[in-house]
Amino acid sequence: MKIKRVRKKIIKIGNVKIGGNNPIAIQSMVKADTRNVNAVIRQVKNLKSSGCDIVRIAVKDKESAQAIACIKRKTDIPIVADIHFSYELALLSIKNGADKIRLNPGNIYKKDEVRQVALAAACAGIPIRVGLNSGSVGGVRNNRKRKNPRNCKTNNLMTTAALSYIKMLEGFGFYNIVVSLKASNILDTIYAYKEFSKKSNYPLHLGITATGFPRAGIIKSAIGIGALLLDGIGDTLRVSLTDDPCEEIIAAKDILCALNLRNFGPEIISCPTCGRCEVDLVNIVKDLEKKLLNSEARRYNKSSRVLSKPTKVAVMGCVVNGPGEAKDADLGIAFGKKSGLLFKKGKAFKKIKESQATKVILKELNALIS
Ligand code: SF4
Repeated sequence: MKIKRVRKKIIKIGNVKIGGNNPIAIQSMVKADTRNVNAVIRQVKNLKSSGCDIVRIAVKDKESAQAIACIKRKTDIPIVADIHFSYELALLSIKNGADKIRLNPGNIYKKDEVRQVALAAACAGIPIRVGLNSGSVGGVRNNRKRKNPRNCKTNNLMTTAALSYIKMLEGFGFYNIVVSLKASNILDTIYAYKEFSKKSNYPLHLGITATGFPRAGIIKSAIGIGALLLDGIGDTLRVSLTDDPCEEIIAAKDILCALNLRNFGPEIISCPTCGRCEVDLVNIVKDLEKKLLNSEARRYNKSSRVLSKPTKVAVMGCVVNGPGEAKDADLGIAFGKKSGLLFKKGKAFKKIKESQATKVILKELNALIS
């Protein structure tokens, strides 16, 4: 089964296209202070080698906006300037070469200010993301409550606020737009994106915001972003985690791989193990994951955004489900007592020792995908 994507307007962010049938782009945000250019560049490079397509940086003052020019000279990944409160910082970021501007309608909404940013972005040929966020939608809520108190729930508010902001941008002749409607509540987020998607053709940047502990953040993001992706909604995404930003990329890649929307290397199938297992399967799989992550990252750098054909690898603990899953995969091992039977393309190939498992899998995998 394949997910049928909702085709939205194609928007270009630096050298990355989103919308239409383009691959769903992965984004993250630099967590270093933007004024510390060396630290930013280090993080940007790590993000890129992890598989990030677009990087956002926080622009909180003039110095941060000016740093964009220097950051741009040292990397070719698209740089998005994240702006709050000050339209002047948006103008300065555009002047310094930002590839996209994120504006928050909750804190930059004065018509003349938005007009100036739209005109500058149009001149530079870059898009604006209308980035709604449940944590800063308060300004919009206060205005609206006076007019229509029943239409003030977060999800309704984010959708209607995004639509009216877009109307304002379109009124200035600006149509190069991406939209996000992130809430910390998964159901609010899903509702807002679904409602918005029915009403607008602009591409959507997906995300759940303020997700809490990293493990919970991955689960919340997988549920929220996954539910939208299953409905074909979403053109780019960010998994927000209170963690190293590279973890956001790994989680984003896992979500996209799980839904067969992008392929970043082999899909690993492994059993949870139980009392029947007679090898240290947990550590074999952990070791394999660590080694594969590095090799995937290297291949990603050299390759295009869409990678090699999907490959399935099964690593199974015993004869109950092992041979069946191993036969079904491109490459599989069904373990028994301290050893396993290796399968290639559905056929039993050879017996291997437990201690050689990771080495053999990686060697056979390389042969399979090269
Ligand atoms: S495949 Fe075997 S070891 Fe793994 S969970 Fe199933 S029964 Fe247990």
